[in-house]
Amino acid sequence: MNSPSRVSRVAIIGGGIFGVSSAVQLARRGAQVTLVTEGALASEASGRSLSWLNSSRMRSPEYHQLRMIGIDRYRTLAAKHPDAAWLRFDGGLTWDADDSSNEIAAVYAHERSIGYDARLLAADQVAAVTPGVDPRAITRQGAIFNPGEGWVDLPSLINVLVEEFSALGGEVVTQAGRASVEVNNGRATGIVTADGRRFAADAVLLAAGASVPKIVAEVGLQITDATPISLLVKTKPINVALRAVLNTPRVAVRPTPTGSLVLDSAWSEEEVARRPDGTFEVKDSTFQGLLAEASAALEGNPMLVLDSYGVGPKPIPGDGEPVFGELPGIAGYYVAFSHSGATLGLIAGELLADEIVTGESHPLLKTFRPSRFK
Ligand SMILES: Cc1cc2nc3c(=O)[nH]c(=O)nc-3n(C[C@H](O)[C@H](O)[C@H](O)COP(=O)(O)OP(=O)(O)OC[C@H]3O[C@@H](n4cnc5c(N)ncnc54)[C@H](O)[C@@H]3O)c2cc1C
Repeated sequence: MNSPSRVSRVAIIGGGIFGVSSAVQLARRGAQVTLVTEGALASEASGRSLSWLNSSRMRSPEYHQLRMIGIDRYRTLAAKHPDAAWLRFDGGLTWDADDSSNEIAAVYAHERSIGYDARLLAADQVAAVTPGVDPRAITRQGAIFNPGEGWVDLPSLINVLVEEFSALGGEVVTQAGRASVEVNNGRATGIVTADGRRFAADAVLLAAGASVPKIVAEVGLQITDATPISLLVKTKPINVALRAVLNTPRVAVRPTPTGSLVLDSAWSEEEVARRPDGTFEVKDSTFQGLLAEASAALEGNPMLVLDSYGVGPKPIPGDGEPVFGELPGIAGYYVAFSHSGATLGLIAGELLADEIVTGESHPLLKTFRPSRFK
């Protein structure tokens, strides 16, 4: 790492889960922290996320390990908040399409081989394991139930973390407009807001979600970017028995703290159009299609009604793996840019805070360094 010594003042750009989680961890370690964000807290990806806590299917062993430790931190948090409606571990149920893309047998074999808790169920076995699912929607290859999975409502979590952060003396600056990182003589020295306010710091964390690649490009560094436009649809509250997070070929569904459901899918994301002024257009047929797919997956095929939706970029690095740590050649300039930021939210904040305060590299982040894009 570039930074050899301890730092005491840290400035953070980004009021999503990575910024806020890192802020509270830094404050717990005694750092003086200012978090600056463009609009409100949780106004971007963290405010419109499916937030399924998982390490299902196949990925690199290092990424799997980090996700499992991420889930462990949520388990600890859940034990501290046993009645929280915003953090649940009721499992996840996954099935694939009935065509040549179906990977259920291979995924099940892989998950068993790495000790990821998984049960392969035929359609008529599902009701005995998890409620609220229409067995007719499940394809003949069966479904995998992962009892260790869960979900979190990120805006609620962010509120809980910010409350602690403020109690520890942390400063939150919202509605700040587009801030930038100040770099002098090869080292980050603070951040500057669009209206010229300057926050000096010994280290800066850039946790600006989908904007990270563009902002680091300003200092001549590249982080490849595969960020798509995403769509999350929320239903009006409905009385359903569903508890697990569903991942099905045409829709993902999870419960919410308020009795609504949230839904997303790959096909509906592809139907979102970007207008010339940068805003997004979602067709009514996309909403209705997603609601119909969710209804078909649920027991009793309830009538689902659109309540609201969130649309915008979903931060994903070009190689799909997380990007955490100090930029090469710029001391004290740290970044957090990743997909699955719900699953990784708590652990990423913990490990980044550790690195920033001690100046020592954490081995768990070794393969996720921004320097790999050089
Ligand atoms: C539809 C959808 C489904 C998802 N499903 C899952 C899932 O099932 N499981 C899972 O683990 N993860 C999931 N994710 C991913 C997860 O939600 C994100 O990885 C995570 O929320 C990203 O958090 P972040 O802090 O990096 O970014 P964000 O939440 O986008 O926050 C970045 C913040 O930085 C601010 N900002 C940007 N530029 C500037 C600037 N120049 N100055 C000041 N402020 C700035 C923004 O306003 C924003 O507040 C999903 C995401 C989406 C959108």
